[in-house]
Amino acid sequence: MSQARAVPAVGIDLGTTFSVVAYLDDLGRPTTLNNAEGDKITPSVVFFEGTDVVVGKEAAKAIVTDAESIAECTKRDLGHRMFHKSLGGRQYPPEALEAFILNKLREDAKRTIGEFSKVVVTVPAYFDEVRRKATQDAGYMAGFEVMDIINEPTAAAVAFGFQQGFLKQGQDAGEKKRVLVYDLGGGTFDVTVMEIGGRDFVALATDGDVQLGGRDFDERLVDFVAEEFIRKHGIDPREEPNSHGRLWRDCEDAKRTLSARTKVNIACDYKGEAVRIEVTREQFHEMTQDLLDRTAFTTRQTLQAAGLNWEQVDRVLMVGGSTRMPGVYEMLKNLSGKEPDCSISPDEAVAQGAALHAGILLDRYAGKSPNFRIRNVNSHSLGVVATDAKTKRPRNAILIPRNTPLPVAAKRVFKTQKAGQRSILVQIVEGESASPDDCSQIGKCSVRDLPPDLPAQTPIEVCFRYHDNGRLAIQVTVEGANAELHHEVSRENSLTQDQLDSWRSYISGMPPASIRDSADFDFGPDPSLTTQPAQTRVWNPTPEGDLS
Ligand code: AMP
Repeated sequence: MSQARAVPAVGIDLGTTFSVVAYLDDLGRPTTLNNAEGDKITPSVVFFEGTDVVVGKEAAKAIVTDAESIAECTKRDLGHRMFHKSLGGRQYPPEALEAFILNKLREDAKRTIGEFSKVVVTVPAYFDEVRRKATQDAGYMAGFEVMDIINEPTAAAVAFGFQQGFLKQGQDAGEKKRVLVYDLGGGTFDVTVMEIGGRDFVALATDGDVQLGGRDFDERLVDFVAEEFIRKHGIDPREEPNSHGRLWRDCEDAKRTLSARTKVNIACDYKGEAVRIEVTREQFHEMTQDLLDRTAFTTRQTLQAAGLNWEQVDRVLMVGGSTRMPGVYEMLKNLSGKEPDCSISPDEAVAQGAALHAGILLDRYAGKSPNFRIRNVNSHSLGVVATDAKTKRPRNAILIPRNTPLPVAAKRVFKTQKAGQRSILVQIVEGESASPDDCSQIGKCSVRDLPPDLPAQTPIEVCFRYHDNGRLAIQVTVEGANAELHHEVSRENSLTQDQLDSWRSYISGMPPASIRDSADFDFGPDPSLTTQPAQTRVWNPTPEGDLS
């Protein structure tokens, strides 16, 4: 990693509220890139101004004047068909909005490192398959070739490992270190327990909440001020979008002040009325205590799932802008009995870890052996919808439980119900609940054109395989016959290739590229990896599957 690369190794932290780009410099050191405004972090905000699309700081400023034309926290809507509000009278898929942000990051980074297309993008560890795919699609629409996606806490741990000298050539870091990564960003919360040993980064357990982050802390302050306003003046400053936007901006600012000072004044004026409220740090803690408690609960559970206690954890690593709140530090200190480690930059670590991972992939493409390895676990159980033999109700039959080391495969045998049946339909879900309704619907896998004249009860084997990055691939075979069958996965709320191509040309001006969905994308055997055999669980072939 010491000579200049022909292709730069670029990592992107596509955050809910802020995004960051890093690359590996000529000496292989991860370095954060400045955007066109000269900042290391770019607000993940898109503003539609007539036919212009403005992204970043200037878009964020417009929240007080043009709130209705602004898309914020798009990442929270990934996995939905459309963003929750229309913008300038138009509806957008959330991944297209994410692509506008990525496109700005690409254009800005190009100014420093020249043209590039290969990137690694980070995702919360707790993202499900649908959201992972949407993130990759966003990258495609922004004109990138997304080589891989990597979990944010894992990327942070890699950056930490680099900083600690674990990744130095010729140096074996010897002793294993167990690190708990607590990642509280603008819109999501992740906690991952990792073991770093030699040059292996192994996730032991992961958990989180994709609807919990700094935004929720802001909202508590917004509600607090708005209620005071209503009490005094009988009107709600949140009812008008621009006034709501202004209040939100001021409360986010006040929240930051409360990380440095013990009290802050928040002013709010609306329709000729005004309030000015002093909020102390203690009051802020009280109004957000339940949010912190939720993260503490998840942290404890993750440690338990990793089979560890706090004495066995060497470091508690804080990542994400929201860990600057003193309450987070205190909570983690009390919980773990250790001083949390703030040695890595909470804003830059994730992008820098992604750049290091991009370096590995590019080295591998070039036939070089990588200098570190990452092992992940899946963050959600994978199941198929089956009919409960007793209740006759649909239920989630779990095939791969959560926190299973990746890659992993599981097989499920379905049986045709009728003689001459030409198709089967398998509904795939992720989640822990027995009820499919409470799980995330990944999509349906339909196997059509089964050979004619199959007798009833012919076993059809469906193999599900999670790649290292949490993406899912599916293979279907008729038991006994050697042939693999054609199947189609219709993914929940996913754009078609044609739609992706036309968004790509609209957003980035790039022509369609023949990039396969990375769920089918394999880097081939990596000689330096001691790949563990895929675990295979063959299900008892009772015909309880969802057959058609
Ligand atoms: P990230 O997604 O990691 O960039 O984190 C962004 C979140 O961190 C936003 O919700 C910010 O409001 C929050 N944040 C950044 N700096 C501070 C600070 N000094 N105090 C409290 N929250 C902060």
